[in-house]
Amino acid sequence: MERKVFIFDTTLRDGEQSPGASLTASEKIEIAHQLARLGVDVIEAGFPASSPGDFNAVCEIAKSVKGPVITALARAVRSDIDAVWESVRYAERPRIHMVLGSSDIHARSKFRRSREELLEMGVQAVRYARTLCPDVEYSTEDASRSNRQYLFQVVEAVIDAGATVVNIPDTVGWSVPAQWGRLISDLRRNVPNIDKAILSVHCHNDLGMAVANSLAAVKAGAQQVECAVNGLGERAGNASLEEVVMGIKVRQPYYRAHTDIVTSELCPTSQMVSRLTGLAVARNKAIVGDNAFAHSSGIHQDGVLKSRDNYEIFSPEDVGANGTTIVLTARSGRHALKYRLESLGYRVTTDDLEHLHTRFLHMADAKKVVDDHDLHALMVG
Ligand SMILES: [Zn+2]
Repeated sequence: MERKVFIFDTTLRDGEQSPGASLTASEKIEIAHQLARLGVDVIEAGFPASSPGDFNAVCEIAKSVKGPVITALARAVRSDIDAVWESVRYAERPRIHMVLGSSDIHARSKFRRSREELLEMGVQAVRYARTLCPDVEYSTEDASRSNRQYLFQVVEAVIDAGATVVNIPDTVGWSVPAQWGRLISDLRRNVPNIDKAILSVHCHNDLGMAVANSLAAVKAGAQQVECAVNGLGERAGNASLEEVVMGIKVRQPYYRAHTDIVTSELCPTSQMVSRLTGLAVARNKAIVGDNAFAHSSGIHQDGVLKSRDNYEIFSPEDVGANGTTIVLTARSGRHALKYRLESLGYRVTTDDLEHLHTRFLHMADAKKVVDDHDLHALMVG
């Protein structure tokens, strides 16, 4: 049976931690409203304990953005949990999200505590958060490098303590898809109370596998994916929201799942986030890059002009992009040249086309890309 995958957007928390991406409070609020239009299920609005400015931004988002669950991040300590609650409590549906290490590396060199002490700290933090808020998410930081049996034990204990969502992060982007999918299946098999909470993943892109890992987790039964617009996030970033969403949509029969994202808002959202963070999107970025629907070689242009599905697996309108573009270069053929000239209002006969194409190739060799201005010159010359 087809199931829903919840999209948890962390553009305003993990995404904002991208070096060079910091946002003002009003920019965060503007993006949060757009995320609601996009139809995300959860907005992680910030890290309120980090600064008064971020605390206030989260409060404003909680007060004014309707629809999604509004959450924010805490470490598993009371002061952080209080800061989250005091800022998200105004939301229609608030959630407290806390994070605590589960790997021996983090236990030893970050917390200097034993596994047992960390487990107890996590359980107490969840119990406390549940006295404030009915919806509490617990992240087992660095899960991919954690001891499996210990991870199962932590997940079971925090669900018993009242966690409603358990998030399994590949914090350092270390995992590979088959292994990561297996971890999700193993959690579902080995944690007796796993069906009492939503199982989530949060993957980083250090090896370029954040989206692949997230989708492998969905295939294995994960119910929530944490991701960020344009793949923003610490270091190499998080799983890209638009790639996860379109992966599930385009290959729906394979994943047997869907999201509630309004996909025609993907490009407008990407452009807003790029403009406000000042971080450009690569031209060749999947889904939202400028070249995502641009065809350059003659063979592809001819094919896509005959029928779009020859070379496009979804349409520009599906993701709110401007449309298919036929880029004229020295690799372009007669069909593409005729199409572009006709779209500028010229009528081109077959005889004209031979002659025009020869001159066009000289122009294209000299100029690399032939634009509308050059085409007008071609016609008058
Ligand atoms: Zn992260």
